[in-house]
Amino acid sequence: MKWKQQIFGMKAYQPGKPMEEVKKEFGLEEVVKLASNENPYGFSPKVKAFLNGDDTNHAIYPDGYAQNLRTAVANHLNVAEKQLLFGNGSDDLIAIVTRALLYPGVNTVMATPSFSQYQHNAEIEGAEVRQVPLKDGKHDLDAMLAAIDEKTSIVWVCNPNNPTGTIVNDEELQNFIEKVPSDVLIVLDEAYFEYVNSPEYKDTLHYVNEYPNVLIMRTFSKAYGLASFRVGYAIGNEGIIAKLDPVRAPFNNTVLSHKVAIIALQDQAFIEECKTKNEEGKKQYSAFCEKHGLNIYPSQTNFVLFEVKADSDVVFTEMMKRGFIIRSGNALSSPGYIRVTIGTEEQNDKFLSLLEEVLIEQGVFA
Ligand SMILES: *Cc1c(COP(=O)(O)O)cnc(C)c1O
Repeated sequence: MKWKQQIFGMKAYQPGKPMEEVKKEFGLEEVVKLASNENPYGFSPKVKAFLNGDDTNHAIYPDGYAQNLRTAVANHLNVAEKQLLFGNGSDDLIAIVTRALLYPGVNTVMATPSFSQYQHNAEIEGAEVRQVPLKDGKHDLDAMLAAIDEKTSIVWVCNPNNPTGTIVNDEELQNFIEKVPSDVLIVLDEAYFEYVNSPEYKDTLHYVNEYPNVLIMRTFSKAYGLASFRVGYAIGNEGIIAKLDPVRAPFNNTVLSHKVAIIALQDQAFIEECKTKNEEGKKQYSAFCEKHGLNIYPSQTNFVLFEVKADSDVVFTEMMKRGFIIRSGNALSSPGYIRVTIGTEEQNDKFLSLLEEVLIEQGVFA
């Protein structure tokens, strides 16, 4: 068959091991997944109440234009309805943008380590991938600017960055956006927007009006706790959205996902509560790292990337045997580190005491 050359040797996304599999393999009664930055508090009780009485007719196709959710999000953000594009998670938005703007002969600029899907989708389209190493765990925007040339089509700013949790502050971002040529799309992936508490990180929505080449991506998968429903949205200039919309699959959300996202959006008290608890949880990890002299990146998200001074894969496996699924830094271009989703207070306590045990076993400290 006439496969795209770039498909050869490519691997499908490697998710964390499913909880059921880990239970069976290690004979565990309980397994806690702190690997994919899902909300440990679940989702709004209002969504739960709705689902219990739900009578959605699943035989009918959803509204491809997502009109009801579109109105709700547009009102929530105070943007025009035509400035929004909905995706089957922001993963879908990344694929749509890539499909529309990348092809052999153009290039795309991104940080490394950063979210793997920018590179993956770019490779499928046969575009050149230019990865710019983080500097002190943060996007090196000057080096990213230097990597942009007349063949650059998209530049990605993952803000906060996955897997480091670090942010680009508003002043740095403004300066960067001003300097990027106007024919290069700047994607601001803000999957963890709701968790940020730094005063230096400001709302970026105004940029889409001032700079028609800026596109923001947000999702219901992380703080809203609706990862299984697959809803993400992009906010941009109406012209960009109109160009991207035909690339979208006709029914890329479900009827039910539209309904629950609207309900979740209305419960901002739930988001605030999760954010407060997340801040407390973050302190548990920073205290642990301080106590043991381990480097930890300053996170503005619901996960932390920190040093273990041991083989990350070994720590990953040892923690899995003890009932915790996390991400090894080796899978995130961060050897010697692990990425852990901040869980509930109890989960964090248990995780950290078991990690201490493992690191003593590994001879990292006594
Ligand atoms: C989780 C994540 C996504 C994907 O989220 P979905 O909306 O579930 O597809 C996108 N970008 C970053 C940085 C993420 O961490």
